[in-house]
Amino acid sequence: MKKQPYSGPILVVAGTRPEVIKLAPVYLEARNRLGGARVCWVSTGQHEELERETLARFAIKPDHCLNAGAGGALLNLNEKVVRGITALCEAIDPALAIVQGDTVSAFAGAFAAFHQHLPVAHVEAGLRSGDNRDPFPEEAYRRMIDDMASLRFAPTPGAAANLVAEGCREDTIFVTGNTAIDALALVDKLAAPCAPANVPVIPNGQRLVFVTLHRRESWGTKLDGMCRALRDIVERFDDIHVVLPLHVNPRVRETVEPILRDQPRITLTEPLDYAACHSLIRTAHLILTDSGGIQEEAPSYHVPVLVLRDVTERPEAVRDGLAVLVGTDRQDVYSIASRWLDDPALRAGMQGIDNPFGDGQAATRIVTALERFLTGKTPLLTNCEQFSR
Ligand code: UDP
Repeated sequence: MKKQPYSGPILVVAGTRPEVIKLAPVYLEARNRLGGARVCWVSTGQHEELERETLARFAIKPDHCLNAGAGGALLNLNEKVVRGITALCEAIDPALAIVQGDTVSAFAGAFAAFHQHLPVAHVEAGLRSGDNRDPFPEEAYRRMIDDMASLRFAPTPGAAANLVAEGCREDTIFVTGNTAIDALALVDKLAAPCAPANVPVIPNGQRLVFVTLHRRESWGTKLDGMCRALRDIVERFDDIHVVLPLHVNPRVRETVEPILRDQPRITLTEPLDYAACHSLIRTAHLILTDSGGIQEEAPSYHVPVLVLRDVTERPEAVRDGLAVLVGTDRQDVYSIASRWLDDPALRAGMQGIDNPFGDGQAATRIVTALERFLTGKTPLLTNCEQFSR
């Protein structure tokens, strides 16, 4: 690995909407404290359009674009990102690469940087489902990234414990909170107010049920069953209105649209701008989702989340009574959602519980540790400086 003190730029590698959202606070904080010239945003282009729109939300202009997105297959994308990052490293001789989460962009970015003998910093380290094939390929990717990383920024004590149990050195693991929570405050500060046209209007007196569904492991029969459950729920409760932003993937649309399109109290939209999405999350009565990010964000607004997955690598919200792991079975989705819509006491019981995923200070902690790492100071973060909820 390169030797300290480290000079050269820091690469922030991202290619999907959630990576942009979760790395924006780190990038902006790092530029503030280390100087604009020291920090480069590298856009892989994995989710080309969503990535571009989300970058604009945070007023980030990428320094380097790999344009690796078009072409579909995960292996193609992997290869293009590895080649792109390798060429970039050869051209600008960076000090370190930061990746986030478990996407192809994160894995290929870490893999290429590792091969260049660069230190890799992994934001959102240590999340585990415990099954290498579910979610596929994310669980394997995040494990391999954590193996390659020199700095492991775990969002919660539980994620840090997963890393310790796998034998990672404890002085490379830092509990920071999840940067998704920092992003919530940032977007309120930075974003131009969203045009009303972008936010679906919920008729007066109706309770908003916000839904997102996109995960690869649910495509086909499970997704079909969950959509039918949603329809059944809307037919049972005449005071609810469902908003479901459709994922861009055609496999998701071809299942969701025929089942839900013609119910007047279900609004299917294009993917929402991040600020518009937040105005809905904040005001929802109930959320049904398979999204990782939304599981982390909703507890900040004390909105209950029903997790439509068979496993979650974010057990903290379930532990604290802020979320329920429902699974993907049609009858379970129907009966558990009905219970939450019927019984106001369930929702009342979760008010006042702090978000276990973060306190909005994750990026500050991460950049403090990075600054000390680059200049050879230890400890990178003391125990008191870490997130402890
Ligand atoms: N999101 C958004 N618009 C939408 C749906 C989601 O801005 O129409 C945001 C959401 O608030 C969260 C992130 O995108 O911050 C989650 O992305 P996604 O569900 O695609 O990925 P995951 O979190 O499951 O990796």
